[in-house]
Amino acid sequence: MTTLEVIAPATGEVVGSYPAATADEVAEAVRQARSAASWWDGLGFAGRARRLDAWRRRIARGADELAELIHREMGKPRADAMLEIAMALEHLSWTTRHAGAVLGPSQRRPTSLTLNHKCTVEYRPLGVVGVIGPWNYPVFTPLGSLSAALAAGNTVVFKPSEYTPGVGAWLGNAFREAVDGPPVLRVVTGAGSTGAALCRSGVDKIGFTGSTATGRRVAAACAETLTPVLMECGGKDALLVDADADLDAAADAAVWGGMSNAGQTCLAVERVYVHRDVYETFLDKVVALARGIRAGKQIGPVTMPGQVEVIDSHIHDALDRGGRAVLGGPDAVRGRFVQPTILADVPEDSAAVTEETFGPTLTVTAVSDMDTAVELTNRSRFGLGATVFSRRNGPAIARRIRSGAVSVNAFVAHASIPSLPLGGVGDSGYGRVHGADGLREFAYARATTVQRFPSPLPLTSFYRPPWADAVVRVIVAVRHGLW
Ligand code: NDP
Repeated sequence: MTTLEVIAPATGEVVGSYPAATADEVAEAVRQARSAASWWDGLGFAGRARRLDAWRRRIARGADELAELIHREMGKPRADAMLEIAMALEHLSWTTRHAGAVLGPSQRRPTSLTLNHKCTVEYRPLGVVGVIGPWNYPVFTPLGSLSAALAAGNTVVFKPSEYTPGVGAWLGNAFREAVDGPPVLRVVTGAGSTGAALCRSGVDKIGFTGSTATGRRVAAACAETLTPVLMECGGKDALLVDADADLDAAADAAVWGGMSNAGQTCLAVERVYVHRDVYETFLDKVVALARGIRAGKQIGPVTMPGQVEVIDSHIHDALDRGGRAVLGGPDAVRGRFVQPTILADVPEDSAAVTEETFGPTLTVTAVSDMDTAVELTNRSRFGLGATVFSRRNGPAIARRIRSGAVSVNAFVAHASIPSLPLGGVGDSGYGRVHGADGLREFAYARATTVQRFPSPLPLTSFYRPPWADAVVRVIVAVRHGLW
């Protein structure tokens, strides 16, 4: 059996060892999940809600242990890990409570030609869903898909990131302890090849969260079997600061948005566009706040070894093209710990502006007006989230940004509100987790009509009376504007 060793990014120590599931083992997990599907579906929304609540309480009881595991495997501070768990549990709770109302049967109105039918729509589970998760929020992110897929009545095979397999296995064990019965949630650990096997395993949908590059491979593999896929990919989110903004709040949001989790957040602020009237004041505030943040203290190490090189290359590229490091810079990169780096005057075509950096860096750029800020924001091929700080024009600016969500006067509030959908456009992916949209993502719509009485206007018969055709002609004319 091949195994996967987990190496703590902070210390280089081996902190866990997990099986690397082969394609056959993935197929077996899918087969087991499929065998549980009709039992889980048959429980109905209330029966599943009781069990998902038990899982939620089990996670809450073990939250300290889980936070410790997240800290050990991917390096974020324990308190931030607890914040992540708290947010994930809120989503699980909302999804469980609302699944019946969102997905259960609801009536639709027929048209004048079909008045004799009672019309119903309901959302049925797809069957078995494969969830592939990243390491940066190893609880919050997969739970977005897991909660909705399970609440909708699917069984799930979950492949956590190779950097956080222990977190994935912990969630699976907690489910088994909380929920009796056949294997509704199976966890398969392994590297990319295990994820690739899951894409080809015949599951009914893949909920993928990860980088855009891997997303492309996943979409290609899923296309072979016409397996639908939800794509939650990378981002290059901007924060826009208007001349009338609360600059202290905006600077605080920029620093938390850019530096928390060492910048390894899909919705991290990576670019800041600031109205020139307040640019210098804002930049001073950002630098003052960021100076107080140290990698190894408030933020952890860079989790993936290869990412250090990416961050370093983005900083160098920005400086080579005429940018300035007003805090940090090339010296900020020391092994796996990267100190906060603020870059100014960085050309818009440099990698630090166009590519996902995934490190504790910000580019801060002056703009002549908010039209320009919006235009530069929308130039990105990513479109995940954005933040706008403006006292008077926040919603108006927000509406013009091309992204799955915008938070006004706060950083990523939308991601923590369970009734709101989360997802992107362009290279940030397609489909949504969270909220009603997230629930529908793991179900198919089924329409049912029941004829209540024979139609007074028989249309769908070869033997319809000639007057019926005349009536149709009149209806077309009256209803569609000929008269
Ligand atoms: P990756 O794309 O490297 O990996 C994501 C998952 O895909 C992992 O479980 C990975 O396994 C697996 N995988 C790798 N190769 C394949 C393959 N060929 N087929 C199927 N699965 C495969 O992303 P990261 O884990 O590095 O996560 C960071 C990325 O995720 C960032 O780009 C970030 O922006 C994005 N993200 C997006 C979010 C969103 O909501 N839009 C939320 C959080 C993160 P393994 O790790 O074992 O290689």
